[in-house]
Amino acid sequence: MTIEHNGIAGPYFEYDGLPAQHVVDKDLPLIHPYAPVTPGRYLTPGGGRLTIRPTEMRAHIRITLDHLGCPAQLTDEKNNAFKRLALAAEGYCVQARCRHRAAHADGVLRIFEVRTGSIPLAAFVRAALAVELGDFTPTDRLLQETEALAGPVRQEGEGDQASGG
Ligand SMILES: [Zn+2]
Repeated sequence: MTIEHNGIAGPYFEYDGLPAQHVVDKDLPLIHPYAPVTPGRYLTPGGGRLTIRPTEMRAHIRITLDHLGCPAQLTDEKNNAFKRLALAAEGYCVQARCRHRAAHADGVLRIFEVRTGSIPLAAFVRAALAVELGDFTPTDRLLQETEALAGPVRQEGEGDQASGG
């Protein structure tokens, strides 16, 4: 069982001038955008906590990103970019008639699920890290690639009725 403490209140510590991190995360490795990307738990250059792990059935990789409410990472511009990134991954699931409930999860803890064999993990994670830093180019490129292969992905406000099963 992996250790996750999403949403737990304090104590926090300052990490190199970045937003405060939970004390249990102080020994997490800092993920580097150009190093190999492997499952694990990391601090991001933008001060987030990133977790990468296969889903139970290993059909997807689940990537969670938590910025602890840091306002610099919760702007409308970045929220929309993270949404496009989620849709880029979701497009492959739609094409494969994948029924998992990944989709876009808004809020403080962002949850992405990338279908194995679709977007390379490193490309997806690097796009997410770029969004943190205000560069949406990799995200928009991934979304364009998804749409070229899988057709237009759903737009905001439609197709969110999958909960009926
Ligand atoms: Zn899927």
